[in-house]
Amino acid sequence: MKFCSECAHPVSFVVPPDDNRPRYVCTHCGVIHYQNPKMVIGSIPVWQCEGEVSVLLCKRAIEPRHGYWTLPAGFMENNETTADAAVRETTEEAGARIELHPLFSLLNVAHVHQVHMFYRASLLDLNYAAGTESLEVKLFTEADIPWDDIAFPTVSQTLKLFFSDTQKVQHGGEYGFHTHDILKSMRNPD
Ligand SMILES: [Zn+2]
Repeated sequence: MKFCSECAHPVSFVVPPDDNRPRYVCTHCGVIHYQNPKMVIGSIPVWQCEGEVSVLLCKRAIEPRHGYWTLPAGFMENNETTADAAVRETTEEAGARIELHPLFSLLNVAHVHQVHMFYRASLLDLNYAAGTESLEVKLFTEADIPWDDIAFPTVSQTLKLFFSDTQKVQHGGEYGFHTHDILKSMRNPD
């Protein structure tokens, strides 16, 4: 940030009085421009057929990670809930109609100032289609997941946890809620 969005004068990066870290502070009107993490919300759209569990992935048509596979997810908008965001992103990127289930994973990506969350979901039908941000949308069983071509560590981690829980569910267990911290040393395009 270089200029104040309130008055267009330059900002300086200083620790405000009674604060403990530097902020962008307007040199003219004094407004402090706080910057906080962004929320990335998505779903794990599942199709079950004769006991076989498949997950819907989207091949990205946009940077970063063009051509790599992801769960449908994106930045949360103002005036929507996390559940709204999960459904909206799934509609926009995968053209899929889902029934949302409980929150499954929460992943901190502190070094890029993001928190990612994924809800479990059931596909209501197979009438999905790639949205403008996707090249292709496709169902994958665990054995078919293109692990080397997954776009983001939060998606790989969520898929691993999901299929691990699915094994437990098939033996009478339940899906859990998982938190995980993605470290900078892990593969991350950002
Ligand atoms: Zn200002």
